[in-house]
Amino acid sequence: MQEPLDRADNPLLAKNPLPAFAAIRPEHIEPAVRQVLDAERAALARLAAVGTPTTAWLKNLERIHESVQRVWAPISHLNSVASTSELRAAFNACLPLITEFETDLGQNVEVYRRFVTLSEGLRHGGGVEAQLVKLGIRDFKLAGVALEGAPRQRYREVVQSLAARQAEFEQNLMDATDAFSHHVTERAKLAGLPEVVLGRARQAAAERDLAGWWLVLDAPTYQAVMSHAEDEALRELYYRAWSTRASELGEGGERWNNAPLIDEILALRHESAKLLGFASYAELSLATKMAGSAAEVVEFLKDLGQRSRGGARAELKELTEFAGRPLAAWDVAFYSERLKQSRFDLAEEELRPYFTLPRVLSGLFELAQTLFGIRIEAAPTASPWHPSVQYYSVSNVDGTPVGGFYTDLFARANKRGGAWMDVCRNRAGIDDLGQTPVAHLVCNFNPPVGEAPSLLTHSDVVTLFHEFGHSLHHLLTEVDYPTIAGINGVAWDAVELPSQFLENYAWQAEVLSRISAHFETGEPLPADKIETLNASRSFLAGLAMVRQLEFALFDFELHGAEAPYSGQGVYDLLAKVRADVAVVAHPPFNRFANSFAHIFAGGYAAGYYSYKWAEVLAADAFSAFEERGLFDAETADRFRRSILAVGGSRDALDAFVDFRGRAPELGPLLRQAGLEPAH
Ligand code: ZN
Repeated sequence: MQEPLDRADNPLLAKNPLPAFAAIRPEHIEPAVRQVLDAERAALARLAAVGTPTTAWLKNLERIHESVQRVWAPISHLNSVASTSELRAAFNACLPLITEFETDLGQNVEVYRRFVTLSEGLRHGGGVEAQLVKLGIRDFKLAGVALEGAPRQRYREVVQSLAARQAEFEQNLMDATDAFSHHVTERAKLAGLPEVVLGRARQAAAERDLAGWWLVLDAPTYQAVMSHAEDEALRELYYRAWSTRASELGEGGERWNNAPLIDEILALRHESAKLLGFASYAELSLATKMAGSAAEVVEFLKDLGQRSRGGARAELKELTEFAGRPLAAWDVAFYSERLKQSRFDLAEEELRPYFTLPRVLSGLFELAQTLFGIRIEAAPTASPWHPSVQYYSVSNVDGTPVGGFYTDLFARANKRGGAWMDVCRNRAGIDDLGQTPVAHLVCNFNPPVGEAPSLLTHSDVVTLFHEFGHSLHHLLTEVDYPTIAGINGVAWDAVELPSQFLENYAWQAEVLSRISAHFETGEPLPADKIETLNASRSFLAGLAMVRQLEFALFDFELHGAEAPYSGQGVYDLLAKVRADVAVVAHPPFNRFANSFAHIFAGGYAAGYYSYKWAEVLAADAFSAFEERGLFDAETADRFRRSILAVGGSRDALDAFVDFRGRAPELGPLLRQAGLEPAH
């Protein structure tokens, strides 16, 4: 055992405005977490003893939440982007402590009673405090505050086990993905692969003193192989490696097999729902969402399925005819890219030289300035966790500070796959804690190789806009209570509104010419290419739609059953959902569920449908700009005030109606996706 470190020695306990990431060592983690939790436990005990709660009392409780968030956010972030075995061990050792603290707080009857007292006083007042108390009471109930005796204890154990199993799921996936590599010495086998991928693979081989190319299994490499590798055997190898990650058939076999964790997670979730009096985990999940009932969600997804499946079938038929042979699962992306080239005279890789990362970022920041009147500037990045990390400060045009964000944009080992926005600091405007919000914007793009800048595909650009949309939601909040500021407290099925809304701008001619500059000539993307890019926007949209519906329905049905699925049942359900909605056949070795981290490790359990649900809101919100002008200042200001500023302080539907002047409509999404308006 080590001696505890004091505040001066431990960067996690420093009162800096930003975490000292580079200085954080695994041995700092547990002492810092214990020290903060001890202090906040004592503070909570004092609050629980207060006779009459007031707004100041509420603010004190908010300070406790944020204090725990401030120590845990950097640890959890480093665990996702700079994982080492020591750091992971420290994270895993502290996860139960954090979970226990949250459960203790959520089940604290004294604190809960004071919320009830407050809610009676605020019944006629409304406002931010009333919403905070309303959501607070809901969350106490979901944390099991009403449970007593054995069920109360069992609920605590279930929550602990779930947190640990979900973290393990993610760690297995990261390790299994990092463990795969493919060394190639014959150039011919790599025919068709883009130069950015080849350059990286050459560099990786050279670092290992090998000739040829060393290919890894991160998203940029996988996607490039699937879309561009002419060698069918290479595509099949990659499809197999990707779709068997963290399964008994993948790299490492049983060592990182997530199948037992899937069973445990589903059983634990089901038990937690039952303990709280819900029929299923899906019902529990809906307690924090916009959607009213499980039936409403399923009907929504099936309706979209009916509208898109015919189109998807026709697209697959066309692709098959184009290829001149039946398509295997690893052929679809490859022939899609080929057909797109022949149909639109537009190759994905042809656009890449125009999307140099620095230019895309500066164009994106200009867009944010135009729409929302904010200025974004690169700032010195004190204490980054990786040399490629950059910090940006955000201010209003009048100079008042808004917040800031870190970018960590390149794929590398020991970093979770995918793209996401995460909270570093929440906005807080409470008596002894005032701070502006700070976000993490994380992607997994191809890193720059040699002298050339990082070059993005258009689909990377859309991803960047998406995560930047989440970041704006976090940064432009005007709510002073951290637990309902930014994305906090927002119904999960509305959280993807700002992100998917902003994606629309990545398709607009005015924006495309601002975010592009050829890396050799400086020339922006030519008008004819912008036109063909837009003409191709709904190309194979049916196939893309049914794929998302397959994920959403699988997730929702998996969590909606009266008894938990397990073992072969999980894969049988996936096969049934695929038979219902999918049109591309998957081989029997496909173990998609084992890498479905969104639902088994992230927050999308019985909530993957949220992408489609919020896409309705996003497309409808964007249609207001199409009606009044893409850069219309008044509309943008209303979007900022009604949607981005309010966080969880208003119900999502009220916020939407406030912006749009009416309830959301499905029409704009159907038009955008090129789907049938009526059925
Ligand atoms: Zn998102």
